[in-house]
Amino acid sequence: MNFEQFDSRVKASYEDKINYTRKIIRKAYNEFGRKLSVSCSFGKDSVVVLYFARELDPDIPVLWANTGVEFPETVKFARKLTREWGLNLIEVKPAKTFWQCVNEYGFPWPRKVKMKNGYKTPGTPRCCYWMKEKSLKDKIQELGIEATFTGLTWDESYQRKWLIIRHGDWYFVKKKGYWFIHPIAYWNTFEVWMFIEENNIPFNPMYEKIERIGCRTCTAHFGWEKQMALVSPKLYNYIMKKMRELGDPRATYLISDFV
Ligand code: SF4
Repeated sequence: MNFEQFDSRVKASYEDKINYTRKIIRKAYNEFGRKLSVSCSFGKDSVVVLYFARELDPDIPVLWANTGVEFPETVKFARKLTREWGLNLIEVKPAKTFWQCVNEYGFPWPRKVKMKNGYKTPGTPRCCYWMKEKSLKDKIQELGIEATFTGLTWDESYQRKWLIIRHGDWYFVKKKGYWFIHPIAYWNTFEVWMFIEENNIPFNPMYEKIERIGCRTCTAHFGWEKQMALVSPKLYNYIMKKMRELGDPRATYLISDFV
C-alpha cells in the first residue's frame, strides 16, 4: 500500500468503511474458512471487530491474552460478554508474569521516547512479547488457526499508522506463521464510538474513567503516570518505589504532582 491509498481509505465515508470491513471479513472467510480467530483484548476496537466477525460465524474462536494484570473491570466485562454473546472464548495465560518481566527487563517503555540526550527506541516491550505475543502465537499454532482478526486502528498511534501504510490491513507474519487481518484499520476513534452507540454494543466500563484500556500496570504509553495515579494510586506508589530500586529514570514524580 502507498500513502495515497492509505489516505483515501482513511478519508472514506463512515458507511464506506463499514462496507469495507464487512467485505474484508467475508473475504477472509472465503479464504480461510473456519481456520480464523479474533484476537480480543475486550477493549472497544476488538469488540467491534468481534461484533462483525460474529455476523458470519457466532462460534468463531475468541483469543484473549489475560495478562493477570488486567483491570478487574476488564475481567468482569470479558466474563459478562462471553455469557451474553455465548462466545467461544479461549483464554490464554502469560508465558511470564508482569513482575517476572519487570525483574528481568525493567518496566516497559513506550516504543519511542524523547530523552535528554536524544531519542530512545526500545522497540516492543518484553512484557508484551511474554504476556501476549508468545502466548497467543503458541495457542494459534496449537489450534491450527491460519489467520486472526484484530481491532488495530490507524489513529491509535504513530507506529500503528505506519504499520498499516507499510503492510496494509492483511499480511502474513513469517516468524509467527499466520496472517493478521485488521478489518477496522482505517477507522478513527470517533467512528468506533459511533458504531458502538448505533448498534448498542456493550463496552468496557473502564472507558468511563480512562481512554486507554490495557494492563493496569502499563508504563509503556505517554501519560501513564497521570492515568495510574488517578485510577490506582496505591499501585502508582508501588511502581514508583520499584522504579527507584531498579534505577529507572522515570521514578522522579510524586503522586501529589497529579492528584
Ligand atoms: S500493555 Fe504494557 S504492561 Fe501490558 S504487556 Fe504491553 S507493554 Fe506490558
